[in-house]
Amino acid sequence: MLSYTTLQNMIQIARMVIDIAIITLLVYYCLKIVRNNSRTIQIFKGVLFVVFMNAVAQFFGLKTVKVVADILVQWGFLAVIIIFQPEIRSILEKLGKSSVFSRMSSLSGNEREELVDEIVDASMNLASQRVGALITIEQTHSLSDYIKTGTPMNSIVTADLLSSIFVTTTPLHDGAVIIQGDRIACASAYFLPTDKSLPRRYGARHRAAVGISEITDSITIVVSEQTGSVSLAKDGELTKMTQTTLRKFLLKAICNEEVEHGDNNDQNEDKNERIESIFNDLIEKEDEPIVIEKIDEDVDDQVNDSGVLKIFRKSKTDQEEINGDQVVTKPKKRTKKKDQEEVVDTSEKGGDKQ
Ligand code: ATP
Ligand code: MG
Repeated sequence: MLSYTTLQNMIQIARMVIDIAIITLLVYYCLKIVRNNSRTIQIFKGVLFVVFMNAVAQFFGLKTVKVVADILVQWGFLAVIIIFQPEIRSILEKLGKSSVFSRMSSLSGNEREELVDEIVDASMNLASQRVGALITIEQTHSLSDYIKTGTPMNSIVTADLLSSIFVTTTPLHDGAVIIQGDRIACASAYFLPTDKSLPRRYGARHRAAVGISEITDSITIVVSEQTGSVSLAKDGELTKMTQTTLRKFLLKAICNEEVEHGDNNDQNEDKNERIESIFNDLIEKEDEPIVIEKIDEDVDDQVNDSGVLKIFRKSKTDQEEINGDQVVTKPKKRTKKKDQEEVVDTSEKGGDKQ
């Protein structure tokens, strides 16, 4: 039997742990807000300066500075609340809509794996037929507000059903499908598009995917009807996916299954898929020369088109004709991100011309 004092001690320790956990979460969320936004970094620096000034004034007994610093601290608190009002509102909204028991958590391991298979099959199927799609998977934040904007369905997720919804001749193809657990909750849902600046090639569908991923913890798969590429939006980031990477990501996020690192077969399969998808993309464009070049420095792009080799079509304007038919590409220094986008974009325009 536990004695009364041991019980008291355990309660005391539990209180301390909860206390520390809450403060850690609070600091974590504050730092996350500060880190995500250059405006908040400046304000954060200002707040730190005022607090530092207050401490210095206190230590050296600088009365006037202390009075000013005190006023700034008192009113600054109010000012920070007003300035961060949108961020505070979004945190409170997220807290209110989060649920530890999401629909996904009621599914067994096998059901989750089947769900991942159906979603991956549907995405790849749609991509191969160049049918645009937007598929959002609910996680812990409820998407019921967005489900209301669409047409309710409540059907079991199957690759065939997902593929048919997005066929452009069907009335439900416009907008997003939302998946709750193993069910398609609705089709034709509308999401608020992101304000973030994305490369020009991404239109309304990709903006909607990034938008929903910024305000909820959902996972969104976008299939582009223009390029047949599959991308995944999570936490405001858009990443291009192959069949293998999409499957790996979904298994980890939905089934909590870590796919073994260092599996050479998997990695080679993934590389081959990426190369194949880049070449398929290029082959379908006009017959301009394909250029493969090495990039010396890291490309800091919001879209993770990772890799040190850049493959693109050289547009006619970048070529120099010598002796009538011999084509020599002009050396072009590619150091800035802007330059890279321009070259890729020119080649895309070149494709339109023919
Ligand atoms: P794609 O690469 O497939 O062309 P995109 O990013 O260029 O995609 P658009 O071509 O503008 O985007 O895609 C238009 C389609 O995206 C619409 O027909 C609609 O189905 C869907 N869409 C656009 N905006 C939203 C939105 N806010 N919420 C949900 N779906 C949207
Ligand atoms: Mg488009």
